[in-house]
Amino acid sequence: MAYNYSEEENKILKFWAENKIFEKSLEKTKDKKPFVFYDGPPFATGTPHYGHLLQSVIKDAIPRYKTMQGFYVERQWGWDCHGLPIENIVEKNLGTKSKKDIVAMGVKKFNDLCRAQIFTFIHEWETIIPRFGRWVDMEHSYRTMDFEYMQSEWWAFKELYKKGLIYEDYRSMHICPRCETTLSQGEVAEGYKDVKDLSATVEFKLVDNPNTSFLAWTTTPWTLPGNVALAVGENIKYATIEKKDGGAGSLVRFILAEDRAEEIFTGQEYKIVETRKGSDLVGLRYEPLFDNYSRDEKLKNRENGWKVYSADFVNTEDGTGIVHIAPAFGADDMALGKKENLPFVQHVKMDGTFNEGVGEFAELDLKPRAKDKPEEIREADLTIVKYLEQKGLLFSSEKYAHSYPHCWRCDTALLNYATSSWFVAVEKIKSKLLKTAKKIHWSPEHIKEGRFGQWLEGVRDWSISRQRFWANTIPIWRCNKCKKEIVFGSAVELEKASGVKVVDLHKDIVDEVIFKCNCGGEMQRVPDVLDTWFDSGSVPFATKRPIPADFIGEAQDQTRAWFYYQHVLVGALFGKEAFKHCIVTGIVLAEDGKKMSKKLKNYPDPAEMIEKYGADAMRFYMLSSPVVQAESLSFSEKGVDEIAKKNIGRLYNVLAFYQLYQDGTPAGDTSKNILDAWILSRLNRLVGSITNGYENYRVDLATRPLTDFIDELSVWYLRRSRERFKEDGENKDGKDGLTTLRYVLRQFSVLMAPAMPFFADYVFGAVRENNEEESVHLLLWPKQNKKLINKNLEEEMDEVRAIVNLALAERMEKGIKVKQPLASLRVKNKKQKINGKEKMLELIKAEVNVKDVIFDDKIESEVELDTTLTEELEEEGIIREIIRQVQAERKEQNLVPQDRIFVEMSLAGKEKSIAEKNKELLLKEFRADEISINEQSPEEKKRLIKIRRI
Ligand SMILES: [Zn+2]
Ligand SMILES: [Zn+2]
Repeated sequence: MAYNYSEEENKILKFWAENKIFEKSLEKTKDKKPFVFYDGPPFATGTPHYGHLLQSVIKDAIPRYKTMQGFYVERQWGWDCHGLPIENIVEKNLGTKSKKDIVAMGVKKFNDLCRAQIFTFIHEWETIIPRFGRWVDMEHSYRTMDFEYMQSEWWAFKELYKKGLIYEDYRSMHICPRCETTLSQGEVAEGYKDVKDLSATVEFKLVDNPNTSFLAWTTTPWTLPGNVALAVGENIKYATIEKKDGGAGSLVRFILAEDRAEEIFTGQEYKIVETRKGSDLVGLRYEPLFDNYSRDEKLKNRENGWKVYSADFVNTEDGTGIVHIAPAFGADDMALGKKENLPFVQHVKMDGTFNEGVGEFAELDLKPRAKDKPEEIREADLTIVKYLEQKGLLFSSEKYAHSYPHCWRCDTALLNYATSSWFVAVEKIKSKLLKTAKKIHWSPEHIKEGRFGQWLEGVRDWSISRQRFWANTIPIWRCNKCKKEIVFGSAVELEKASGVKVVDLHKDIVDEVIFKCNCGGEMQRVPDVLDTWFDSGSVPFATKRPIPADFIGEAQDQTRAWFYYQHVLVGALFGKEAFKHCIVTGIVLAEDGKKMSKKLKNYPDPAEMIEKYGADAMRFYMLSSPVVQAESLSFSEKGVDEIAKKNIGRLYNVLAFYQLYQDGTPAGDTSKNILDAWILSRLNRLVGSITNGYENYRVDLATRPLTDFIDELSVWYLRRSRERFKEDGENKDGKDGLTTLRYVLRQFSVLMAPAMPFFADYVFGAVRENNEEESVHLLLWPKQNKKLINKNLEEEMDEVRAIVNLALAERMEKGIKVKQPLASLRVKNKKQKINGKEKMLELIKAEVNVKDVIFDDKIESEVELDTTLTEELEEEGIIREIIRQVQAERKEQNLVPQDRIFVEMSLAGKEKSIAEKNKELLLKEFRADEISINEQSPEEKKRLIKIRRI
């Protein structure tokens, strides 16, 4: 018989549901101290994968443990509903190519499609999450698209605004040209990938001396039409270099940083004709590479353009020491543009195409650097470089490998682009955020100063506006005439001002609310929507939960996302940390160490795995792995199988043995038998280590010791106790064993309940007393009984087991079966504690099957077996062998101890006479009523034993 994972777990699921065990566990604790848990919301736009299961098991084990500790742990499921993930799916279904297509079809229609799409896979989630044993209220989930939830964010936005923490700015930021929206610092940080771009060193001819050019290097040739200045370092030394022009043979001159000359002109003949400090170059004019903008008389600050300026960000680490400046495409460029009143040239539209201003290059598309071809050079870069080459303005160009940010959602290469955005002024409250972060306990601990701490040290203001559709809205209305702004913190406030009642705050609804300003102008909402991280960062207050949470958990990428945004919003609004304890996991990879990929099918289906090995084995596999300490896990089916066998399989066998002999003897922990006392001592030690594991949010340390205990229980305690269980009649030692084993199994079922909730209830159900709770999950967590911990006894048992292992290894080496008794075992005398302790030595004698254990100073090796076989020992060996064979046969026929049997044996000469001599003993050992012993016929090569139940 074996434990059928799938069948038993499904039975237990039904038992939990029918008897409302989860609800009862909440009901029992509802007046107790709350333990606050926030669930990080997943999207229902895809099916649940291993990463979700990993989070789920952690988010289940901790609350189960805390409930058993007597806390009230509400567990509300949440759904993330907004943003690009869902928009991209809808766009894919529609086949839209760009944002314009969405505007053309109408925001309402688009948002309705998003509304309809959002819960495509909800059924899969609602199936697998409970099946995985997670107790969570999915029926009353919070959803970030719900009116109340969104309204809480409006409230938060207004509070931030009142505190002066919201502002609008025009600045250079990363945008996704496909999604046509800005992204936050965290989103940008997640999307870096190694790519190859085309770099170019470009010649900028001096207006007064066309024979001389500045050399400037860029990795983004597409920004060159937007060039309006060159920057040099004031104190950097610049050289004018003279060399022969390759083609015509005439002499040409180039200006660049002296430090860079050797590298740029490697292998070429040149001479330095002049050196100057950067400050001496400032003010020199050069010919624009493209003249569309420089000829445009309406361009503001045109007179300041196409000249050399000094800037402190210029260095000579790479490039030429002269930097091409395009204020629309980079933070440094933009700052210099503002400082020097440079003309502002924006030749790229937000969708990544060149605008009409660039004449022949209008419509040139920057976007397609295809997802799977990071090697591919952008078409736009190539076109620009070719153009420069034709004009004789290209000094050199080559492929350039670097790490470049991509859209976390659609994989398009981002652009550094000047645009307007709303910000949360995070930098202003940074010191407060750092202070409250000190109170957070992380598991693993290095996240505190590492990933999270470092991220906090480098915070930038948070760009919270998105130029998209399906999201919460920025609640600012602005007058088109006097530019007055009103911020609304609720739908009621909006209604008071506008007379329009709304019960949905999405863009398609609230953009229709337009009302008159006092000045006579019209108040209209600013068109942007909110970053969806504002949604998930609002979980603590939008779900109306106490703040801070006692516990949250997610994968490590959330240190820059969900963990961070909660910390920012709660810090800004309430001045405290958002959570006290956080478990950060690594990611689950395929067995080959690669990313799990649906396309490659390099991993087994999670739902199938659960049915095959059971949710418990999967849960334990994850909880006890390094993935719960932010390391990655290469998911291995074999690993789950091993856990199933090692933990559940072996414990099931122990339980089955108990059930075979149990007679209703109640559980107890008072036996003085050394094996009982030892296992009780180990059990109480285990209570301590599992409790510590959970208290410190180290779920690995709260699970791994369970396996060790099962090992001790099964291969030592039970193995050495078997005989006393089997003895019939009044047998105090056997009763003590049953009492103890029942107690141990019951306590152990509690200790494994958070990690393996199904099997825990199965075991508990088999050993519970009639007046006890119906489920292990309604019990209180056990307390360690220090009085039962016997360090001395444990050390002695360690000695016994070590000696046994050595002796058995020697038997194996010498090829002597364990069933063959031997006269003695000599043990090298090293002042062992067990020397002279008869009960301990009895254990060795029984396990190693020797008549005597002798401690000896003189032997060479650690242990030495006396292998001389006397006639008596040989006789006993044969008897043992025959008994073993009959017992194996009883097992084969599934007989219980109470079954009486008839035994028929054919034995050869010596064996036969030995059996006849010991017939009485054999009858008793076989639990047989009759034995017939026959002479083995010559054809039969070995002894033959048949049994029959009577
Ligand atoms: Zn994108
Ligand atoms: Zn106005």
